[in-house]
Amino acid sequence: MASLFETPVTALRGVGEKRAALFRKIGAPTVGDLLRCYPRAYEDLSHPGPIRLAQPGQVCAVRAAVVKAATGTRVKGGMTIYRAAADDGETVFPVTFFNNPYAANALHEGETYVFYGRVQANFLKREMIAPECLPAGACPAIRPVYRQTQGLNSRAVESAVRQALLLLPEQIRDPIPAGIREARGLCPLGEALRHIHFPPDAAALARARERLIYEELLVLQTGLLRLKSRGRGGGAPAAPIDAVEEFWERLPFSPTGAQRRAVREAAADMARTTPMNRLVQGDVGSGKTAVAAALCWQAARNGLQAALMAPTELLARQHFATLSGFFAGSDVKTALLTGSTPKRERAAVLAALADGSVQVAVGTHALLSEGVSFRRLGLAVTDEQHRFGVGQRAALAAKGGQPHLLVMSATPIPRTLALMIYGDLDLSVLDELPPGRIPVKTYAIPSSKRGRAFGFVRRHAEAGRQTYIICPMIDEGDDDRASVTQYADRLRREWLPGLAVGELHGRMKPAEKEDVMARFAAGELSVLVSTTVVEVGVDVPNAAVMLIENAERYGLSQLHQLRGRVGRGRVQSYCILVTDAQNKEAQARMGVLCATTDGFRVADEDLRLRGPGDFFGRRQHGLPELRIADMAEDVAALRRAQEDARAILTADPALEQPEHRGLRGEVRLLFSHARGG
Ligand code: ADP
Ligand code: MG
Repeated sequence: MASLFETPVTALRGVGEKRAALFRKIGAPTVGDLLRCYPRAYEDLSHPGPIRLAQPGQVCAVRAAVVKAATGTRVKGGMTIYRAAADDGETVFPVTFFNNPYAANALHEGETYVFYGRVQANFLKREMIAPECLPAGACPAIRPVYRQTQGLNSRAVESAVRQALLLLPEQIRDPIPAGIREARGLCPLGEALRHIHFPPDAAALARARERLIYEELLVLQTGLLRLKSRGRGGGAPAAPIDAVEEFWERLPFSPTGAQRRAVREAAADMARTTPMNRLVQGDVGSGKTAVAAALCWQAARNGLQAALMAPTELLARQHFATLSGFFAGSDVKTALLTGSTPKRERAAVLAALADGSVQVAVGTHALLSEGVSFRRLGLAVTDEQHRFGVGQRAALAAKGGQPHLLVMSATPIPRTLALMIYGDLDLSVLDELPPGRIPVKTYAIPSSKRGRAFGFVRRHAEAGRQTYIICPMIDEGDDDRASVTQYADRLRREWLPGLAVGELHGRMKPAEKEDVMARFAAGELSVLVSTTVVEVGVDVPNAAVMLIENAERYGLSQLHQLRGRVGRGRVQSYCILVTDAQNKEAQARMGVLCATTDGFRVADEDLRLRGPGDFFGRRQHGLPELRIADMAEDVAALRRAQEDARAILTADPALEQPEHRGLRGEVRLLFSHARGG
């Protein structure tokens, strides 16, 4: 089947260059990809009923014979209504089309059809409006519904898929090794592909799904385990000298019990030559930066280097400032490397990392770029892990032989799932906030009360405290939404005249952003209007109010992250969610935030409200996008796949045996899509 991934969709009848562009849009540049574009839903035509039983307004299938061919009637406005009559054995009802003689005339008197469409009803009669009409003899029981795009509807995709299936070779190399397939009772790939698209019945569809889900999870787990199996036999530089207590003494505060525990666990890993693979999970504000800093110090004190990678430039700069502060007056030197580091400075940093005169590198993914090399990298840390792809994590690790690996995440997920998603990672949880924190009070208000909220902001400004205001992304290009600049202007002119208002958005240059952030951190600005760029990590303890416009547009976890920007000091902080959304789902989300500040509870509710598919969307964990499996729903299959992947890799670590070649190909495919994600 591999060759089909090199066959462009233009090889199919009726697909020219123009159509091919549309197929690319739905994720199917090649015939192979098309076969892997599984239907997103199915229409059940297997039990067409009488129209009497149809729910008015609902789409349904009705089997009936045409008893009178269509005739057209012109009505006002130049429209022509075509009506035929059909008899389902109980009721004779009209089948109606508007301005569509083609569909109407395709109905032949005396023939039986399955009509699929909406049933309209009043107390006198029922009729079907513009249904699809499938000759009863040729009507499938279940029909696929595909993702469509402007100019390419589900039916067009269907007919392309039909052709693509004909191109499947007789012998397909199955990614699931035969032994496992038999042991797990799974159907072969060819059958699965045919039935996922065109299932003869519900049982066949279920079998196809089961197999494809399993396959996807096996490929995923195999890929993850291979990433992690690096350096099994040891080879990481050990850091046996305990410098942790010495670091704690440098801090302006004393560490929480949870911070001590996490650092002790990681330092114990680092004392060995088996590379550490550890996840530190901690709610916003739990003090992950200090944990990372302690371990960087530990590495440096053992003659090793450390790299700390953050997902945004803003955050990288902040971490750089924090770590430099912690290490001040010692001989542990820190350098910053981001995409906007000037050329000459960059060259100096690279040289210092290469010769080891700088021990700790803080930066963005610029740390992964070519030319960055370390003399003796002992520890690689990624902050806000969910923002990075697995590929990037692996790339950082690859920068220096076999460093110890620490990933930090503020997305609390249940432990069992974390272990499966992150495979072999060990877990440390920061389940304690620094002392003296006062839980943030959260309120949801309609936009009509915005004026009062601004009064509240002003009073805080007068008391010397600061406010973030989040308004929707300028980059999304929808002009009807408040952009940062317009919003800030209005604040200055109309809403909060006299207050110092700053702006921060994605279109600004890094230096401009840094300047604004520095002024906000120094207290020169009372209000910072921003997009969600402040979402991750930003730490200004004097900020006490977070006002979020159009709060309904964000997911629960994201709102929780944003809220986490306040409540970091010792004063009561507030989060104000401005929303006019009336729908239940949005209101439920606001309700959760108003009710709790506990990140684990927010995550649970998020999972419940959004459904696992969304929650474990790619952004949350940086894993490749899955086509059919669902990591939360298919937990049992995930566990089996993990077992099998382990067994396969134990027997054949490089997947070189012939029966593993299909699997190797799919692993490569899945993780190449994921790259850069
Ligand atoms: P996280 O990254 O987990 O969201 P940060 O590392 O940004 O949290 O820390 C949040 C704030 O708490 C920072 O201002 C930091 O200086 C402070 N902090 C961290 N640990 C402690 C502690 N043990 N005691 C007091 N303040 C702390
Ligand atoms: Mg952080």
